[in-house]
Amino acid sequence: MVSLIIHGGAWNIPDETLDAHRQGVRKALDRGWALLAGGGSAIDAVEQSICAMESDGTFDAGKGSHLNADGFVELDASIMEGHSYRCGAVAAVRRIMHPVSLARKIMEETEHILLVGEGAERFAANNGVPLCEGSELVTGRERALWESVRGKAGFQSSHAFSKRPGDTVGAVAFDRSGNICVGTSTGGTLNKFPGRVGDSPLIGCGSYAENAIGGVSTTGWGEGMIRIVLAKTIIDHMAANGNDPQEAAAHGIGLLREKVDGRGGVIVLNREGRPGVAFSTPRMAFALMNEEMTEPRVEV
Ligand code: ASP
Repeated sequence: MVSLIIHGGAWNIPDETLDAHRQGVRKALDRGWALLAGGGSAIDAVEQSICAMESDGTFDAGKGSHLNADGFVELDASIMEGHSYRCGAVAAVRRIMHPVSLARKIMEETEHILLVGEGAERFAANNGVPLCEGSELVTGRERALWESVRGKAGFQSSHAFSKRPGDTVGAVAFDRSGNICVGTSTGGTLNKFPGRVGDSPLIGCGSYAENAIGGVSTTGWGEGMIRIVLAKTIIDHMAANGNDPQEAAAHGIGLLREKVDGRGGVIVLNREGRPGVAFSTPRMAFALMNEEMTEPRVEV
């Protein structure tokens, strides 16, 4: 079943930003769905949905991302195709508006999977992925937030997680050819150590896709999710337990709590394109559409 599910982060999303989140995920879903419904590929739908959220300014991805401890935005992203096991990822880049597109280029045009920092930016410059000024990624909202926590004794992004970070974005698509693709993109956690890399660009942690089972994109406290390899853990659980995407999503979020005392949210499609969503944060922004639905479901 042709199907698309996207998320715009899981955290304590404030009331005054609910509309922006709703509109942001809806716009991104519409962009991806227009491609998929017209017979487009899962990978194009994932890339375009995520690009919409990276330029929106509402999310912790692309423009509007959290600042690191030096006051710069540093971005991570990954993408994976479920039919070929091909994947690409990028981490700690400072001058890329659309790291998901760079991740795709790395997947399609290199023998590597993950490029970081300066090397990743050099690859982008030489391969037609536009560079931007770091300042274009910084919004007044995020600078003010960063000013309010920088230098605060004892501030740790993980402790603040249920209130602060979140807004990572992701998408899972199932196309007419039966291919599943997953992508995830983030600015990481607030005031993170420069060079810190979270779960989002790590295959198996932030993203995983396997046509015979399904696809997963995660958001939440990255250090916790890396420890339990959350996306692949959900895929393996789904394969062994009847391919129920909702049960598998809930299981993954339960494990995150139980094993590492972590919080977050996940979106899942199974091999038939059926969706699952689970989160342990106060709110999660997500949207989904498939061939059986007449209207998209949008929730924050
Ligand atoms: N998982 C991301 C990270 O730790 C943050 C998030 O999902 O909001 O980098």
